[in-house]
Amino acid sequence: MIQTLQVLIIDDNRSDRALIIRELQREFPQVEFTEIINAGDFELAISSGGFDAVVTDYQLRWTNGLEILRTIKAYYPRCPVIMFTGTGNEEIAVEALQSGLDDYVLKQSNRYIRIPPAIRIALNRLETQQRASLLEIRLQTLLNQVKVGIFRSRPDGTLIETNPAFLELFGIKSLGQANEMNLLDTQNCYARLVHLPPPQHQEREVQLTRSDGTQFWGLLTTTLNIIEGISVIDGLLEDITERKQTEIILEARVQKRTAQLNAVNQELSSANQDLEEFAYSISHDLRAPLRAIQGFSQILLEDLDGSFDSTSLEYLQRIAVNAEKLDTLITDLSAYSRLRQADIQLESVNLSLVLTEALTLLELDILEQQAQIQVDEPLPLVRGNRLVLVQVLTNLLSNAVKFVASDVLPQVRVWAEQRGQQTRFWIEDNGIGIPSERQQQIFSPFTRLHGEEEYPGTGIGLAIVRKGVERMNGEIGVVSQLGQGSRFWLELPTVMEQS
Ligand code: ADP
Repeated sequence: MIQTLQVLIIDDNRSDRALIIRELQREFPQVEFTEIINAGDFELAISSGGFDAVVTDYQLRWTNGLEILRTIKAYYPRCPVIMFTGTGNEEIAVEALQSGLDDYVLKQSNRYIRIPPAIRIALNRLETQQRASLLEIRLQTLLNQVKVGIFRSRPDGTLIETNPAFLELFGIKSLGQANEMNLLDTQNCYARLVHLPPPQHQEREVQLTRSDGTQFWGLLTTTLNIIEGISVIDGLLEDITERKQTEIILEARVQKRTAQLNAVNQELSSANQDLEEFAYSISHDLRAPLRAIQGFSQILLEDLDGSFDSTSLEYLQRIAVNAEKLDTLITDLSAYSRLRQADIQLESVNLSLVLTEALTLLELDILEQQAQIQVDEPLPLVRGNRLVLVQVLTNLLSNAVKFVASDVLPQVRVWAEQRGQQTRFWIEDNGIGIPSERQQQIFSPFTRLHGEEEYPGTGIGLAIVRKGVERMNGEIGVVSQLGQGSRFWLELPTVMEQS
């Protein structure tokens, strides 16, 4: 803002000058004047400068207003000039306006008051222009400094303007050169943009070619804008080559690792398969010598009983007991291996019938343990395999009556629950329970939480259960707390009964 307004008053008529000064003093609280009445004064004022506005008469003895206007605009192009004249000649007015005159006021008594607002408007216009050009300079500096390419193009791809960073990205010098090459596929980009919902805006990662033929990756952000009724594409282009390369390297690493992991997994699963096959064949091969041991120890025990001393007899009995344990182990292992290999047909299975079969197989254990088994009928039809299910339920029920504290009579409850399309079958016992951290492990072969003396077993029962359920596309789990009993569940698809 100007503090004290300095005005040149160029008029030969002293009273006119006085009138102008009076009007201006009314409008501007801080204003100073330099009165020019001859060529010498004018030359001096031009050479020393320091004025903010000029009010000049057209008719002067020593020159005319047009000459004054041209001289001032030649030295001080932005300085507002108001012409004040008694002659209402339109031609002069037009010529003066073309030479940069800011306003034109007729020298009539009631028109003097128009001079201050004319100066104010001209000064305001000047200030707005100065601000705009300052802003433009700042914006331009910013555009020149940012590392991101900025451009505006026509929808046909012709670039209208770009910042230096944009040209640098492509290694080119000028807009003209840029327009000779089809740097961005803007035509394609425009076609896509118009189909997007407003604000039409898209972001793409694109591979672009520099002027020397090398390539780089760019993040291209484009927006379709309408400026004064004309469609233009405004865009940003950021070089993301480094990030892209890192991504490619990382991606390659991930793929390599995945391939390595897959190879390890394959090796592991084939090693597992080898192991299971080995267990199966060895259990098969062990059968014959084991039978021989069992057979001969039986013969010795039955036929030659009297001829052994008590120690030898005890040894012989131990051989028989251990041979039987080995037999159970081999049977379990074979069952497990068979389950893994066999073709399992899935059919509709009546859970009630399967349960009855399993309970029949366990009749002796149930009697021995004085166990109570409660079955909540009805049990539904499920999709599974009858033989596998009999084995699964037998193993679960045998554990339920086995793993109880010595002074507790086993109480087992069995029921089924519908969960969407699945049946969840529960076996609940009042046994010793399983600590939560071991609940996943017990389904792996040979995992036992107790010594052989406490609770006999091979540690394969639940492995058979899990494998069997998996082969029937079902799921298995346990809910338990140490000393609080256990609830084993298995889930299989329900077969809807046709009515
Ligand atoms: P086994 O019964 O031959 O020991 P399993 O594979 O059937 O082997 O069971 C593995 C282990 O899981 C058992 O040794 C026992 O520690 C635990 N377990 C299984 N069922 C129960 C149950 N109902 N209650 C408590 N512990 C159980």
